[in-house]
Amino acid sequence: MSGPNSDYDPVEVSTLQPEEVAAARDAALAAIAGATDLEQLKQARIEHTGDRSPLALANREIGALPPQARKEAGQRIGQARGAVSQALAARQEVLEAEREERMLVEETVDVTLPADRFPTGARHPITTGSELIADIFVAMGWEVAEGPVIEAEWLNFDALNLGPDHPARTMQDTFWTAPAEDHVVLRTHTSPVQARTMLSRQPPIYVVCPGRVFRTDEYDATHSPMFHQVEGLAVDEGITMGHLKGTLDHFATSMFGEGITTRFRPSFFPFTEPSAEVDLVCFVCRGTGLNGAGPESCRTCRGEGWIEWGGCGVVNPRVLAACGIDSERYSGFAFGMGIDRTLMFRHGLEDLRALFEGDIRFTTAFGTEL
Ligand SMILES: [Zn+2]
Repeated sequence: MSGPNSDYDPVEVSTLQPEEVAAARDAALAAIAGATDLEQLKQARIEHTGDRSPLALANREIGALPPQARKEAGQRIGQARGAVSQALAARQEVLEAEREERMLVEETVDVTLPADRFPTGARHPITTGSELIADIFVAMGWEVAEGPVIEAEWLNFDALNLGPDHPARTMQDTFWTAPAEDHVVLRTHTSPVQARTMLSRQPPIYVVCPGRVFRTDEYDATHSPMFHQVEGLAVDEGITMGHLKGTLDHFATSMFGEGITTRFRPSFFPFTEPSAEVDLVCFVCRGTGLNGAGPESCRTCRGEGWIEWGGCGVVNPRVLAACGIDSERYSGFAFGMGIDRTLMFRHGLEDLRALFEGDIRFTTAFGTEL
Protein backbone atom coordinates (compact mmCIF):
# COMPACT_ATOMS: atom_id res chain seq x y z
CA MET A 1 0.00 0.00 0.00
CA SER A 2 1.60 3.23 -1.07
CA GLY A 3 1.37 6.27 1.21
CA PRO A 4 0.65 9.79 0.02
CA ASN A 5 3.38 11.71 -1.67
CA SER A 6 5.39 13.26 1.10
CA ASP A 7 5.40 16.62 -0.76
CA TYR A 8 1.71 16.69 -1.32
CA ASP A 9 -0.67 16.98 1.59
CA PRO A 10 -4.22 17.59 0.29
CA VAL A 11 -5.26 19.04 3.66
CA GLU A 12 -2.60 21.72 3.69
CA VAL A 13 -3.16 22.73 0.09
CA SER A 14 -6.91 22.86 0.15
CA THR A 15 -6.71 26.61 -0.51
CA LEU A 16 -5.20 25.83 -3.87
CA GLN A 17 -8.48 24.54 -5.20
CA PRO A 18 -9.56 26.76 -8.13
CA GLU A 19 -12.82 27.70 -6.44
CA GLU A 20 -11.01 28.55 -3.20
CA VAL A 21 -8.60 30.83 -5.06
CA ALA A 22 -11.48 32.44 -6.93
CA ALA A 23 -13.34 32.93 -3.66
CA ALA A 24 -10.29 34.53 -2.02
CA ARG A 25 -9.83 36.82 -5.05
CA ASP A 26 -13.49 37.83 -5.09
CA ALA A 27 -13.47 38.53 -1.37
CA ALA A 28 -10.39 40.70 -1.84
CA LEU A 29 -11.92 42.60 -4.77
CA ALA A 30 -15.15 43.13 -2.86
CA ALA A 31 -13.26 44.48 0.16
CA ILE A 32 -11.25 46.81 -2.08
CA ALA A 33 -14.32 48.08 -3.88
CA GLY A 34 -16.09 48.55 -0.55
CA ALA A 35 -13.29 50.63 1.00
CA THR A 36 -14.60 54.17 1.27
CA ASP A 37 -11.43 55.80 2.54
CA LEU A 38 -7.69 55.19 2.57
CA GLU A 39 -7.76 53.73 6.07
CA GLN A 40 -10.30 51.06 5.05
CA LEU A 41 -8.26 50.34 1.92
CA LYS A 42 -5.18 49.83 4.06
CA GLN A 43 -7.09 47.30 6.18
CA ALA A 44 -8.24 45.49 3.02
CA ARG A 45 -4.65 45.40 1.77
CA ILE A 46 -3.37 43.83 5.01
CA GLU A 47 -6.23 41.35 5.15
CA HIS A 48 -6.13 40.20 1.52
CA THR A 49 -2.48 40.59 0.44
CA GLY A 50 -0.63 40.42 3.76
CA ASP A 51 1.47 37.45 4.90
CA ARG A 52 -1.53 35.78 6.56
CA SER A 53 -3.96 36.37 3.67
CA PRO A 54 -5.42 33.32 1.84
CA LEU A 55 -3.76 34.23 -1.46
CA ALA A 56 -0.33 34.68 0.15
CA LEU A 57 -0.68 31.38 1.96
CA ALA A 58 -1.75 29.70 -1.31
CA ASN A 59 1.20 31.22 -3.10
CA ARG A 60 3.55 29.87 -0.50
CA GLU A 61 2.10 26.38 -0.98
CA ILE A 62 2.73 26.19 -4.72
CA GLY A 63 6.18 24.87 -4.01
CA ALA A 64 4.67 21.93 -2.13
CA LEU A 65 2.69 20.74 -5.16
CA PRO A 66 3.84 17.93 -7.39
CA PRO A 67 5.78 19.45 -10.32
CA GLN A 68 3.01 18.74 -12.80
CA ALA A 69 0.48 20.73 -10.78
CA ARG A 70 2.67 23.76 -10.05
CA LYS A 71 2.33 25.57 -13.36
CA GLU A 72 -1.42 25.66 -13.43
CA ALA A 73 -1.69 26.54 -9.74
CA GLY A 74 1.00 29.19 -10.13
CA GLN A 75 -0.85 30.76 -13.04
CA ARG A 76 -4.18 30.73 -11.28
CA ILE A 77 -2.85 32.23 -8.08
CA GLY A 78 -0.65 34.71 -9.92
CA GLN A 79 -3.61 35.96 -11.93
CA ALA A 80 -5.70 36.27 -8.79
CA ARG A 81 -2.98 38.22 -6.95
CA GLY A 82 -2.41 40.40 -10.02
CA ALA A 83 -6.10 41.24 -10.21
CA VAL A 84 -6.11 42.11 -6.51
CA SER A 85 -3.05 44.33 -6.68
CA GLN A 86 -4.41 46.13 -9.76
CA ALA A 87 -7.68 46.71 -8.03
CA LEU A 88 -5.80 48.00 -4.97
CA ALA A 89 -3.77 50.45 -7.04
CA ALA A 90 -6.84 51.69 -8.91
CA ARG A 91 -8.85 52.12 -5.72
CA GLN A 92 -5.91 53.87 -4.05
CA GLU A 93 -5.80 56.39 -6.86
CA VAL A 94 -9.52 57.07 -6.66
CA LEU A 95 -9.49 57.48 -2.88
CA GLU A 96 -6.44 59.75 -2.92
CA ALA A 97 -8.07 61.97 -5.49
CA GLU A 98 -11.19 62.10 -3.35
CA ARG A 99 -9.20 63.02 -0.28
CA GLU A 100 -7.45 65.79 -2.14
CA GLU A 101 -10.76 67.13 -3.36
CA ARG A 102 -12.17 67.07 0.16
CA MET A 103 -9.12 68.86 1.59
CA LEU A 104 -9.42 71.58 -1.01
CA VAL A 105 -13.02 72.13 0.02
CA GLU A 106 -12.41 71.87 3.77
CA GLU A 107 -9.34 74.05 3.81
CA THR A 108 -10.71 76.74 1.57
CA VAL A 109 -10.04 80.18 3.04
CA ASP A 110 -13.00 82.50 2.91
CA VAL A 111 -11.32 85.81 2.34
CA THR A 112 -14.57 87.63 3.07
CA LEU A 113 -14.68 86.47 6.74
CA PRO A 114 -13.81 89.08 9.38
CA ALA A 115 -10.08 88.83 9.99
CA ASP A 116 -9.81 90.27 13.50
CA ARG A 117 -11.24 87.40 15.50
CA PHE A 118 -8.64 87.68 18.26
CA PRO A 119 -9.25 91.07 19.85
CA THR A 120 -6.16 93.12 20.45
CA GLY A 121 -5.70 94.80 23.81
CA ALA A 122 -6.60 98.37 24.49
CA ARG A 123 -4.72 101.12 26.28
CA HIS A 124 -6.23 101.94 29.64
CA PRO A 125 -8.31 105.12 29.82
CA ILE A 126 -6.15 106.37 32.70
CA THR A 127 -3.08 106.09 30.47
CA THR A 128 -4.72 107.77 27.49
CA GLY A 129 -6.40 110.33 29.77
CA SER A 130 -3.10 111.23 31.47
CA GLU A 131 -1.47 111.61 28.06
CA LEU A 132 -4.29 113.80 26.82
CA ILE A 133 -3.88 116.09 29.85
CA ALA A 134 -0.10 116.17 29.41
CA ASP A 135 -0.55 117.02 25.71
CA ILE A 136 -2.79 119.99 26.52
CA PHE A 137 -0.04 121.47 28.70
CA VAL A 138 2.85 120.52 26.43
CA ALA A 139 1.05 122.43 23.68
CA MET A 140 1.28 125.52 25.94
CA GLY A 141 5.02 125.02 26.35
CA TRP A 142 4.91 123.21 29.69
CA GLU A 143 7.03 120.21 30.63
CA VAL A 144 5.86 116.90 32.08
CA ALA A 145 7.62 115.91 35.32
CA GLU A 146 7.57 112.60 37.15
CA GLY A 147 8.74 111.48 40.56
CA PRO A 148 8.83 108.45 42.85
CA VAL A 149 5.62 107.16 44.48
CA ILE A 150 7.57 106.21 47.62
CA GLU A 151 8.61 109.58 48.92
CA ALA A 152 10.47 111.24 51.78
CA GLU A 153 8.17 112.66 54.45
CA TRP A 154 9.92 116.03 54.15
CA LEU A 155 9.16 116.38 50.41
CA ASN A 156 5.61 115.12 50.78
CA PHE A 157 4.73 117.41 53.72
CA ASP A 158 7.32 119.81 55.17
CA ALA A 159 8.51 121.31 51.88
CA LEU A 160 4.88 122.04 51.06
CA ASN A 161 4.23 123.89 54.32
CA LEU A 162 2.29 121.02 55.91
CA GLY A 163 3.62 121.34 59.47
CA PRO A 164 4.35 118.45 61.84
CA ASP A 165 0.88 118.76 63.38
CA HIS A 166 -1.04 118.82 60.11
CA PRO A 167 -3.89 116.28 60.29
CA ALA A 168 -3.01 114.85 56.85
CA ARG A 169 0.19 113.44 58.36
CA THR A 170 -1.58 111.05 60.71
CA MET A 171 -1.70 107.31 60.31
CA GLN A 172 -5.39 107.65 59.49
CA ASP A 173 -4.71 109.51 56.25
CA THR A 174 -1.28 108.45 55.09
CA PHE A 175 0.45 105.14 54.34
CA TRP A 176 3.80 105.12 56.15
CA THR A 177 6.45 102.56 55.34
CA ALA A 178 7.99 100.60 58.21
CA PRO A 179 9.93 101.43 60.27
CA ALA A 180 8.38 104.83 60.98
CA GLU A 181 11.81 106.23 61.92
CA ASP A 182 12.72 106.19 58.23
CA HIS A 183 10.17 108.96 57.60
CA VAL A 184 9.09 107.50 54.26
CA VAL A 185 5.51 107.59 52.91
CA LEU A 186 3.55 106.58 49.83
CA ARG A 187 3.05 110.05 48.39
CA THR A 188 -0.36 111.49 49.25
CA HIS A 189 -0.31 113.91 46.29
CA THR A 190 1.93 114.63 43.32
CA SER A 191 3.08 117.89 44.96
CA PRO A 192 6.47 116.47 46.00
CA VAL A 193 7.28 116.29 42.27
CA GLN A 194 6.82 120.06 42.20
CA ALA A 195 9.05 120.44 45.27
CA ARG A 196 11.71 118.29 43.59
CA THR A 197 11.49 120.42 40.44
CA MET A 198 11.90 123.67 42.39
CA LEU A 199 14.81 122.23 44.37
CA SER A 200 16.64 121.13 41.25
CA ARG A 201 16.40 124.27 39.12
CA GLN A 202 15.58 127.94 39.00
CA PRO A 203 12.51 129.60 37.40
CA PRO A 204 10.98 129.93 34.93
CA ILE A 205 9.26 126.64 35.81
CA TYR A 206 6.19 125.32 34.02
CA VAL A 207 5.61 121.68 34.89
CA VAL A 208 2.64 119.38 34.96
CA CYS A 209 2.86 116.18 37.04
CA PRO A 210 0.39 113.36 36.44
CA GLY A 211 0.76 110.29 38.63
CA ARG A 212 -0.46 107.77 41.19
CA VAL A 213 -1.07 108.84 44.78
CA PHE A 214 -2.13 106.99 47.95
CA ARG A 215 -4.37 107.75 50.90
CA THR A 216 -5.99 105.47 53.45
CA ASP A 217 -9.44 105.82 51.89
CA GLU A 218 -12.11 103.15 51.72
CA TYR A 219 -12.57 101.43 48.36
CA ASP A 220 -16.03 102.26 47.04
CA ALA A 221 -17.80 103.85 44.08
CA THR A 222 -16.22 107.26 44.72
CA HIS A 223 -13.09 106.49 46.79
CA SER A 224 -9.96 104.43 46.38
CA PRO A 225 -6.77 104.14 48.46
CA MET A 226 -4.87 104.53 45.18
CA PHE A 227 -5.91 107.10 42.64
CA HIS A 228 -4.44 109.47 40.05
CA GLN A 229 -3.76 113.16 40.26
CA VAL A 230 -2.46 115.79 37.96
CA GLU A 231 -0.85 118.83 39.45
CA GLY A 232 0.62 121.84 37.72
CA LEU A 233 3.13 124.42 38.87
CA ALA A 234 4.19 127.66 37.24
CA VAL A 235 6.88 129.83 38.83
CA ASP A 236 8.07 132.93 37.02
CA GLU A 237 8.32 136.67 37.42
CA GLY A 238 4.99 138.44 37.66
CA ILE A 239 2.74 135.36 37.86
CA THR A 240 -0.75 136.22 39.12
CA MET A 241 -4.07 134.57 39.92
CA GLY A 242 -5.19 135.76 36.44
CA HIS A 243 -2.65 133.46 34.77
CA LEU A 244 -3.98 130.61 36.89
CA LYS A 245 -7.58 131.28 35.90
CA GLY A 246 -6.70 131.53 32.20
CA THR A 247 -4.68 128.31 32.31
CA LEU A 248 -7.44 126.32 34.03
CA ASP A 249 -10.12 127.69 31.68
CA HIS A 250 -8.04 126.53 28.73
CA PHE A 251 -7.50 123.13 30.38
CA ALA A 252 -11.26 122.75 31.02
CA THR A 253 -12.22 123.74 27.49
CA SER A 254 -9.63 121.40 25.96
CA MET A 255 -10.85 118.53 28.11
CA PHE A 256 -14.61 119.04 28.01
CA GLY A 257 -15.36 121.26 25.02
CA GLU A 258 -16.14 124.84 24.08
CA GLY A 259 -17.95 126.88 26.73
CA ILE A 260 -16.82 124.72 29.66
CA THR A 261 -14.84 127.06 31.91
CA THR A 262 -14.07 127.31 35.63
CA ARG A 263 -14.97 129.37 38.67
CA PHE A 264 -12.98 129.79 41.88
CA ARG A 265 -14.33 129.61 45.42
CA PRO A 266 -12.16 130.81 48.33
CA SER A 267 -10.52 127.97 50.22
CA PHE A 268 -7.43 127.11 52.23
CA PHE A 269 -4.42 124.94 51.42
CA PRO A 270 -1.11 125.13 53.29
CA PHE A 271 0.98 125.41 50.13
CA THR A 272 -0.99 128.18 48.39
CA GLU A 273 -2.05 131.66 49.50
CA PRO A 274 -4.61 132.72 48.43
CA SER A 275 -6.22 129.35 47.70
CA ALA A 276 -9.35 128.40 45.80
CA GLU A 277 -11.55 125.44 45.00
CA VAL A 278 -11.99 125.03 41.25
CA ASP A 279 -15.44 124.29 39.87
CA LEU A 280 -16.21 123.34 36.30
CA VAL A 281 -19.25 124.44 34.30
CA CYS A 282 -21.41 121.30 34.23
CA PHE A 283 -20.85 119.94 30.73
CA VAL A 284 -24.14 118.02 30.78
CA CYS A 285 -26.51 120.95 31.41
CA ARG A 286 -23.83 123.48 30.40
CA GLY A 287 -24.34 125.43 33.61
CA THR A 288 -28.12 125.77 33.46
CA GLY A 289 -28.75 123.16 36.17
CA LEU A 290 -31.58 121.75 34.05
CA ASN A 291 -31.72 118.39 32.36
CA GLY A 292 -32.36 118.93 28.65
CA ALA A 293 -35.79 120.36 27.92
CA GLY A 294 -37.44 118.77 30.97
CA PRO A 295 -38.17 120.54 34.23
CA GLU A 296 -35.98 118.19 36.27
CA SER A 297 -32.65 119.12 37.80
CA CYS A 298 -29.46 118.01 36.08
CA ARG A 299 -28.34 114.78 37.77
CA THR A 300 -24.65 115.33 37.09
CA CYS A 301 -24.40 118.65 38.99
CA ARG A 302 -27.61 118.17 41.06
CA GLY A 303 -28.99 121.36 39.57
CA GLU A 304 -26.01 123.47 40.67
CA GLY A 305 -24.70 124.13 37.16
CA TRP A 306 -21.15 123.55 38.51
CA ILE A 307 -19.06 120.51 39.41
CA GLU A 308 -16.19 120.46 41.92
CA TRP A 309 -12.99 119.76 40.03
CA GLY A 310 -9.94 120.45 42.19
CA GLY A 311 -7.91 122.97 44.16
CA CYS A 312 -5.54 125.74 43.24
CA GLY A 313 -3.89 128.93 44.38
CA VAL A 314 -0.90 131.20 44.33
CA VAL A 315 2.15 129.35 45.67
CA ASN A 316 2.79 130.27 49.31
CA PRO A 317 6.09 132.24 49.49
CA ARG A 318 7.14 129.93 52.34
CA VAL A 319 7.01 126.98 49.91
CA LEU A 320 9.15 128.89 47.40
CA ALA A 321 11.64 129.75 50.14
CA ALA A 322 11.76 126.15 51.43
CA CYS A 323 12.67 125.06 47.91
CA GLY A 324 15.40 127.67 47.51
CA ILE A 325 13.58 130.12 45.24
CA ASP A 326 13.71 133.88 45.79
CA SER A 327 10.11 134.63 46.78
CA GLU A 328 10.66 138.39 46.44
CA ARG A 329 11.48 138.07 42.77
CA TYR A 330 9.33 135.13 41.73
CA SER A 331 5.73 134.13 42.24
CA GLY A 332 3.84 131.12 41.06
CA PHE A 333 0.57 129.25 40.89
CA ALA A 334 -0.28 125.63 41.47
CA PHE A 335 -3.34 123.49 40.89
CA GLY A 336 -4.32 119.86 41.27
CA MET A 337 -7.22 117.64 40.33
CA GLY A 338 -8.05 113.96 40.22
CA ILE A 339 -7.47 112.30 36.85
CA ASP A 340 -9.90 109.50 37.71
CA ARG A 341 -12.59 112.00 38.67
CA THR A 342 -11.94 114.01 35.51
CA LEU A 343 -12.32 110.84 33.40
CA MET A 344 -15.50 109.91 35.28
CA PHE A 345 -16.98 113.29 34.27
CA ARG A 346 -15.71 113.10 30.76
CA HIS A 347 -17.06 109.61 30.07
CA GLY A 348 -20.08 109.57 32.38
CA LEU A 349 -18.70 106.79 34.60
CA GLU A 350 -20.75 106.13 37.72
CA ASP A 351 -18.34 103.87 39.59
CA LEU A 352 -14.69 104.76 40.16
CA ARG A 353 -13.84 101.08 40.60
CA ALA A 354 -14.45 100.43 36.87
CA LEU A 355 -11.13 102.22 36.30
CA PHE A 356 -9.18 99.85 38.54
CA GLU A 357 -10.67 96.41 38.11
CA GLY A 358 -9.04 95.43 34.85
CA ASP A 359 -12.17 94.30 33.02
CA ILE A 360 -11.18 94.46 29.36
CA ARG A 361 -14.81 94.93 28.32
CA PHE A 362 -14.48 98.31 30.01
CA THR A 363 -11.05 99.32 28.73
CA THR A 364 -11.65 98.11 25.17
CA ALA A 365 -14.35 100.73 24.75
CA PHE A 366 -11.68 103.38 25.26
CA GLY A 367 -8.97 101.65 23.26
CA THR A 368 -9.34 103.65 20.10
CA GLU A 369 -9.65 107.06 21.71
CA LEU A 370 -6.98 109.43 20.50
ZN1 LIG B 1 -25.49 119.89 35.25
